[in-house]
Amino acid sequence: MPEPLAMLPPRDTLGRPLHDLRISVTDRCNFRCVYCMPRAVFGPDHAFLPTADLLTFDEIARLVRTFARMGVEKVRLAGGEPLVRRELPVLVAALAAIPGIRDLTLTTNGVLLPAQAEALKAAGLQRVTISLDADDDETFMRLNDARVPVERVLAGMEAAEAAGLGPIKLNMVVKRGWNEHAILPMARRFRGTGRILRFIEYMDVGHSNGWRLDDVVTADEILRLISSEFAVEPMEPTAQGEVAERYRYLDGAGEIGIIASVSRPFCGSCNRARLSADGQLYTCLFATTGHDLRGLLRRGASDEELESDLRRAWNGRDDRYSEIRSAETVDLPKVEMSYIGG
Ligand code: SAM
Ligand code: SF4
Ligand code: SF4
Repeated sequence: MPEPLAMLPPRDTLGRPLHDLRISVTDRCNFRCVYCMPRAVFGPDHAFLPTADLLTFDEIARLVRTFARMGVEKVRLAGGEPLVRRELPVLVAALAAIPGIRDLTLTTNGVLLPAQAEALKAAGLQRVTISLDADDDETFMRLNDARVPVERVLAGMEAAEAAGLGPIKLNMVVKRGWNEHAILPMARRFRGTGRILRFIEYMDVGHSNGWRLDDVVTADEILRLISSEFAVEPMEPTAQGEVAERYRYLDGAGEIGIIASVSRPFCGSCNRARLSADGQLYTCLFATTGHDLRGLLRRGASDEELESDLRRAWNGRDDRYSEIRSAETVDLPKVEMSYIGG
């Protein structure tokens, strides 16, 4: 018998299904990465979201239940720094209990993992992705602008693995003039460890980081550099809508990934919705406006209303920003990465 229509995931105007959800649980962070929350913009006077504007855990769980009914199976928590949101394991436990959510993960800068990894695992978190942009203190501290040495992030990795949150993926954003010299040392350090290093092209998210195309170290450049020392070959993608191009070391020392969102955009298979910490739904990382789900929740919308609203929002989606990136789009007033969750 054919599946009832309402159970099918919605498709957008380009035929892309809704499959993944990324949730920002806070717009605050204990780092000031130069490519994300530059200190000059996110200084002591910056107005972060007031607590009353943040979605409560119950509100987030209700939305995730609705998304799960529409076919979403993967949820990733991010921010800002998700681990600065108080009692995060309570949210993790609520989300882990939702039928249909098969993959529950988190992206973090790692420094609060030693204190929280076990509680997160016990609550039902499956894996973590940890960001680290260099393996030498000088470069890393210039980039995080919060005086955090590499050692603190390594301790976070160890805590995550000890708690059973591995295998961990590592995200390294590459910004020209800042850390391309750390590409090979990072590859050397993490090959053979079971930690999967992914290089991310620096993106023009938001409008506070002063992005310029010249600052992007492209996937081709990264691969050339890696190949100058190590033999690698491409791997087949494993997951639907996977954003990283994967390569395996021919000597068996594991794999790396490259996320080439600028030089080889993947909008054609983008199946991800994003929920900001204050309950706006964004259908693209580079969106300028969201869809107010918090308003709907707080006005007392029924589950049916919520679902039909979400379906309508996804059905109307036509985003493909990275494919049409140009001098004009770069200047659009896009939302910040720390607000939308990466
Ligand atoms: N604070 C957490 C962290 O850093 O892992 C989670 C949120 S952060 C916004 C999510 C991911 O986005 C991180 O891996 C970060 O390095 C990446 N990111 C932030 N700004 C970026 C940019 N302009 N271009 C590419 N990646 C970026
Ligand atoms: Fe914070 Fe993550 Fe942005 Fe760095 S990338 S400032 S750790 S939210
Ligand atoms: Fe998806 Fe927007 Fe990124 Fe394209 S630019 S891959 S539509 S988030």
